[in-house]
Amino acid sequence: MLSKFFVNSENIDKENGKITITGEDVNHIKNVLRYSIGDMITICNKEDSRNFLSKIKEMSSNGVICDIMEEVDNKAESNVIIDVYQGIPKADKMEHIIQKGTELGAHSFTPVRLKRCIVKIDKKDEKKKIERWQKISEVAAKQSLRDIIPEVRSIIDINDFEKCLDGYDTVLLAYENEKVHYIKEELLKIKNKEDYKIAIIVGPEGGLEESEVEILEKFGAKIVSLGSRILRTETAPLQMISVIMYELEKQK
Ligand code: SAH
Repeated sequence: MLSKFFVNSENIDKENGKITITGEDVNHIKNVLRYSIGDMITICNKEDSRNFLSKIKEMSSNGVICDIMEEVDNKAESNVIIDVYQGIPKADKMEHIIQKGTELGAHSFTPVRLKRCIVKIDKKDEKKKIERWQKISEVAAKQSLRDIIPEVRSIIDINDFEKCLDGYDTVLLAYENEKVHYIKEELLKIKNKEDYKIAIIVGPEGGLEESEVEILEKFGAKIVSLGSRILRTETAPLQMISVIMYELEKQK
């Protein structure tokens, strides 16, 4: 499998058939992967997910210049878009969710401030945190050969859901005290389409308060159980992404 790198449109010179890789990837290509001139890599345009099979032509400390050999199909993206809304957990757990969620095919991650969140992120630290999480998403996207880098969005509060939840085929709220409705039933209700856009909402370590569940239900979320065992906050979104993909993803 060829290594994959993401670049912006401005790095792609279609007319001359060249792509320039800049930034941290240069060191990675030269000193970690130890690639040399003539080696092949895949380069993906961050902005439109087009992939180019490319051959390394020149390497300097400021950039790696590649010749485009051919455009190749976008293979990793799914007919199912899953946006993850995650009650903010401790830092290492959020990193775990972003890394594994990206491998499993999530489309975006939005951290949510909920009543039982143990970790409080100050406004002044938010930008740095999001940047770090975005970097984790990028590394995981490269590693799992995704054609997009899942976006890590700004932190929201429960009331922001009112405007976030439009346009989904279903919004699934995993609630540990739900005993009757299982995720599978909700997926079967919407299963007759080509493409799906689904939001999943998961509580933090301390779980969800009843008042939060009521608010989210009012905004249109469907309350679902993930089974008769209590999962950790970092397990729940990964289980949900997996079962949604199993039920709704079209095989290529
Ligand atoms: N501390 C709580 C559990 C919180 S689990 C308790 O002891 O009851 C963290 C989050 O994962 C929950 O808020 C919920 O969104 C999700 N979750 C975990 N297990 C679940 C299950 N069996 N069904 C639905 N949601 C679950």
